[in-house]
Amino acid sequence: MKFVDLDSQQRRIRFELERRILAVLDHGHYVLGPEIEELESRLGAYVGVSHALACASGTDALLMALMAYEIGPGDAVFTTPFSFFATAEVISLLGATPVFVDIDKSSFNIDPVFLETAIRDVANDERTHPVYRSMDATEILIPKAIIAVDLFGLPANYPAINDIANNHGLVVIEDAAQSFGAELNGQKACALADIACTSFYPAKPLGCYGDGGMCFTNDDRMAEMMRSIRIHGMGDHQYDNVRVGINGRLDTMQAAVLLSKFEIFPEEVILRNTAAKRYNDLIGSSSKLTIPMVPENAQSAWAQYSLLAESEAQRDKLRSRLNQDNIPTAIYYPKPLHLQKVFEPLGYHEGDFPVSESCTKRIFSLPMHPYITAQEQEKVAGALNSIGIV
Ligand SMILES: *Cc1c(COP(=O)(O)O)cnc(C)c1O
Repeated sequence: MKFVDLDSQQRRIRFELERRILAVLDHGHYVLGPEIEELESRLGAYVGVSHALACASGTDALLMALMAYEIGPGDAVFTTPFSFFATAEVISLLGATPVFVDIDKSSFNIDPVFLETAIRDVANDERTHPVYRSMDATEILIPKAIIAVDLFGLPANYPAINDIANNHGLVVIEDAAQSFGAELNGQKACALADIACTSFYPAKPLGCYGDGGMCFTNDDRMAEMMRSIRIHGMGDHQYDNVRVGINGRLDTMQAAVLLSKFEIFPEEVILRNTAAKRYNDLIGSSSKLTIPMVPENAQSAWAQYSLLAESEAQRDKLRSRLNQDNIPTAIYYPKPLHLQKVFEPLGYHEGDFPVSESCTKRIFSLPMHPYITAQEQEKVAGALNSIGIV
């Protein structure tokens, strides 16, 4: 059984994929070729925003968004400790400080109540947030931005997050690396904050055959900034540099791959939702396992189907049982970001974010992709069942 099945997908689109790749070989514009603009206009229209900018990775997309807002030393960027490292890495890379905020236990996304408290702590200089523990009394942080993550494909609570941001004069960046194709209140993921960033890493809901990413925004000025930052801070032309930027372009080959895959993407989102519903039904309510919760007003892109066991020991037992039947599982994420070695100087300790810490010990993800069969899913549920937990 496969955890992610890119082969079945490739069989469906192989002809179109070859046609698109050969077209790039024929025209030879390997960087910023016509496929880039075509991809940007297709995905921008799908998401429903006015600007879509293809870039080299999800990490670069986040970096470009923070750079467009001129985030730097002394700035506080609020984010979740329960995410992939890149979410917080880009904040530190720019010399700003990641201020972690615990998650909501049913969505695994940043909790707006804790967010409000954390912003007040920092803004009022009350110094009660754990990030101040290691700082001397003269250091202050200025709240600037929030990076909310749509973990496992489920959008964060943007109505609440955007309200809080407005009240405190902060900008909101949507880390939609896992949620391209998801929806909240009838709006697509990547249209839910000031700037949204997605990833086209192969295992993401819409993946290319290498690294890729995209920024989305309705803000003309920020789009212009990111367009410049993407190509070494360029001004009027390529050898006119008006700011420090990066080499953040997506290459044309990857755009060709993405255009081929996008043809069947909306259908794949439906297939993922069907598979998720089937897991929910098979694992169900009698379970001691917590199945993923999707609010009425949302649709997940199901980048992962993740379960919460009751304890670390139970999770490990379940995983080794599944492993015996050659059913692959994964842990996203085994360590919360505030406890990563690299962030030791920020002064966080175990116990600072109990919900995230508990989830890292109990979470595990089952095979999930559009082509998983009912029989495969029954086998997974059967294996979970066989040790008397489901
Ligand atoms: C994958 C991922 C990223 C980084 O994307 P890359 O394309 O791998 O650079 C950032 N944030 C989250 C939540 C991710 O899952």
